[in-house]
Amino acid sequence: MADSPPLIGDVADELYKCNRCGFCQTRCPIYRVTGLEGSVARGHLARLQGVLERDLPLDDRLRADLSACLMCRACTAECPPGIQTDRIVTAARAAYAAERQPWWHRLIFRRALPNPALMRAVVKTLYLLKRTGLTSAARLLRLIPGLDRGLAEAQTMMPIPSTFLRARLAARPVAARTARQVVYFAGCGIDYTLPEVGEATFDVLEAAGFEVTVAPNVCCGLPAYAYGDLEGARALAERNLDLLAGLGGEAVITDCGSCASFLRDYPSLFAEGDPRRRRAQEFAERIREFSEFVAAAPPQGLSPVRAVVTYHDPCHLSRYHTVTKEPRELLRAIPELEYRELPEADWCCGGAGSYALSHYDLSMAVLERKMGNIRATGAEVVATTCPACIAQLRYGAKIFGPAVEVLHLSQVLKRALPQ
Ligand code: SF4
Ligand code: SF4
Repeated sequence: MADSPPLIGDVADELYKCNRCGFCQTRCPIYRVTGLEGSVARGHLARLQGVLERDLPLDDRLRADLSACLMCRACTAECPPGIQTDRIVTAARAAYAAERQPWWHRLIFRRALPNPALMRAVVKTLYLLKRTGLTSAARLLRLIPGLDRGLAEAQTMMPIPSTFLRARLAARPVAARTARQVVYFAGCGIDYTLPEVGEATFDVLEAAGFEVTVAPNVCCGLPAYAYGDLEGARALAERNLDLLAGLGGEAVITDCGSCASFLRDYPSLFAEGDPRRRRAQEFAERIREFSEFVAAAPPQGLSPVRAVVTYHDPCHLSRYHTVTKEPRELLRAIPELEYRELPEADWCCGGAGSYALSHYDLSMAVLERKMGNIRATGAEVVATTCPACIAQLRYGAKIFGPAVEVLHLSQVLKRALPQ
């Protein structure tokens, strides 16, 4: 019998709150696809209780089921005791990672993500491979063990621009000095794959009267955390605490809902009494997600945008950071824009970071449901606030339809800025 993973012990109290009611089945996107108890929160908790009590081995089958969890927190929303399944799943993944972390996870989380120059070189290489067609990036990536069919589609799913966000921002004309200053935290997804989103964010913030400074940040650490590399996530958090320490401004703003929620959660990476926890707490209090910040100080004199628009809630923004009304308020404030609410707007789109690459078939089944709901709205534009959701929904529009335009909220707002 395998030993209990040590980190599961930290969340053991949470595990035993489950009363087996099964309410979590109703909204778990993965359970709705598989119909298997092994896919849903109740099943995860029961099996991990078994591991703790040494009735069940911590085997590869359990690992595979836990790795198929989207960490979307839909189960928590339905759960009478409010069990945070994502924390328990992360603890279990961390226990596995401590024993058998794949070498390439360590390479990405501990070497590449803390090193923006290396990240740029890697993404640039992928861009050149994609452009030249000499060899396919997918073929190269398939050499990595443990990743599945999604990699064959990675080139289509992942946009790779010719220039990254930081280079584009450095080339912008210097904005007029204003009394109100903010710091911009560029998440990897927007910096390396969707720089036009970051540019739109700058345009909106400047139109709202802010002078924006770009932080010299590294990855927020969420990818490492989600794969159970807590040490890697902690190291990235500490690096960001150092890099942003001397920057003033009234807030640190990010237009990535996932970065926002994780940056706000930095204190939980450090134990009570650890001096880093206090620093993380002060840092977290300065973090504002783009839509919550702009809703409190929106640009004035917006022009009409004649389009039918709906909004998809990214899980990290709506369920972790609980920002839901502000993006809708901002869209509704645009003259002549027709806003239509999306059925199941807070259901995961199946993007979940790199989930579509590692669990392609499940991800597509979840995405197909989302695209059906988008079709039902008749919207021409889907707005959202997370780069992974944007990439996933654009892919969904391509393979399932409808042929909607998928934009970040900042890009919709940019269209309404006075010329
Ligand atoms: S976090 Fe999401 S995918 Fe995971 S068990 Fe809960 S509802 Fe299902
Ligand atoms: S909803 Fe909560 S308490 Fe009920 S079975 Fe699911 S995890 Fe357990």
